[in-house]
Amino acid sequence: MSQHSRNLLVMKFGGTSVGDVLAVQQVVDIVREARSSWSSVVVVASALAGVTEALLSQAFKVAQGDESEIEANINNLRARHQALLEAFVAEEERRREALQSIEYLLQRLASLWQAIAVLGEATPRALDAVAGMGERMSVRVLAAILNAVEIPAQAVDATELIVTDAQFQSAHPDMEATRVKVETFLRPLLALGMVPVVTGFIGATPEGIPTTLGRGGSDYSAAILAAALHANEVWIWTDVDGVMTADPRLIPEAQTVPRLTYREVAELAYFGAKVLHPKTIRPIIEAGIRLRVLNTFNPSHPGSEIVGDAPMILDGVIKAVTAVRNQRLITVEGRGMLGVPGVAARTFTAVARTGTSVPLISQASSEQSICFAVPAETASRIVTALEEEFANEIKRRDIDRIWASEEVVILTVVGSGMQHTPGVAGRVFGALGAQGVNVIAIAQGSSEVSISLVVKAEDLQAGLRALHNLIKI
Ligand code: ADP
Ligand code: ASP
Ligand code: MG
Repeated sequence: MSQHSRNLLVMKFGGTSVGDVLAVQQVVDIVREARSSWSSVVVVASALAGVTEALLSQAFKVAQGDESEIEANINNLRARHQALLEAFVAEEERRREALQSIEYLLQRLASLWQAIAVLGEATPRALDAVAGMGERMSVRVLAAILNAVEIPAQAVDATELIVTDAQFQSAHPDMEATRVKVETFLRPLLALGMVPVVTGFIGATPEGIPTTLGRGGSDYSAAILAAALHANEVWIWTDVDGVMTADPRLIPEAQTVPRLTYREVAELAYFGAKVLHPKTIRPIIEAGIRLRVLNTFNPSHPGSEIVGDAPMILDGVIKAVTAVRNQRLITVEGRGMLGVPGVAARTFTAVARTGTSVPLISQASSEQSICFAVPAETASRIVTALEEEFANEIKRRDIDRIWASEEVVILTVVGSGMQHTPGVAGRVFGALGAQGVNVIAIAQGSSEVSISLVVKAEDLQAGLRALHNLIKI
């Protein structure tokens, strides 16, 4: 990489990367090192590990009328952030200032929880206001720590930068409006040689109402900011050695995939590889930005590099396998369906009305049924919605049955080499068959870089392992 391209680097640190003193020490070293070779560095940070989860579960609890743990939770959050400040910020005045800013947020958080308790309801809007508090606290702590070690830094709330629509819990950015804000508020900090430490995960509507980009959305925040700033690269720092051949929590012998294409990583993320939020890829491809996934706890490991969709990148046919758990298959079935116009369109419109997204639609061999996966907990709601939609067709017996399967998992194999390699599907089925894993439904990604297979929930481990054994690195 030539020196002149090293202008602007966006680095995102996930929850475990800012989870405790040892992790934050790594972050400090990584930021220092990056500043020695890049003109400008932007840091995007998640909440401390486990904090978002704690914030949300407390919100659900208070909505049920149980306020008993508010104080303990506030104390616990204060203690965790304070411990980091005490470990790194020796100067008392600085430490007090940072603690005060945390205290202000904790008071607001307590008020939000109390308001939810009074209303007896946690609306998506209220949940977003609560969930974003973790990032607001972590960036203040991290900026104070960087300043204390002589790295000039400034905490920035992305509510001032990322303009979104009002779709709470999964807000969509307005890139144009975001660009204007980024130029106004972020660029001047970079011009001063400072490291902006920006909250991941959150944004705000044009009216300033806080939103979130969806769970795990800090990766997406980094991509949005990188695109808005025309950054050269985005580095996602996490707790594993890059994108791996499988989730190492499920397959301990998983290995790093050194290079993946945008499309491969997009399919992996979409089909459950938590290492990257699925929306991260798009702004990055569109802006031609390079993406790396690296390990905060093993920073000398080269991790994974995500590169353009060059057709020659065929290192390995299947590069990775992944799983989406807790799904059910919904089947709409009937011999009269052939003659009924628009069944598929009406089916998916009815599903969309329930606010559910469909990860997989199976190509049925006959046209007498439509089969698709949905998150298990939404299945009964969807069956009801479909029964209403097709009430007339059911009465006429054009549609015989609408039903939800037992719990299933979607296993997906990913690799762009599959496009050019005959017989991959055969090997995939063979591997599963040899382990006695029955395939309930299949779907091939439209980009032909993935094949997804639906299997019973109890076949998850055996199926994933059988598919993982097909990977040759
Ligand atoms: P962060 O807090 O840094 O965003 P996440 O927990 O969101 O971290 O994502 C990292 C985790 O993703 C890893 O610890 C790993 O268990 C999981 N993961 C799932 N699939 C993969 C994969 N294919 N490669 C790497 N990690 C994966
Ligand atoms: N802290 C947020 C979450 O836990 C966002 C993120 O970590 O990416 O969902
Ligand atoms: Mg994450």
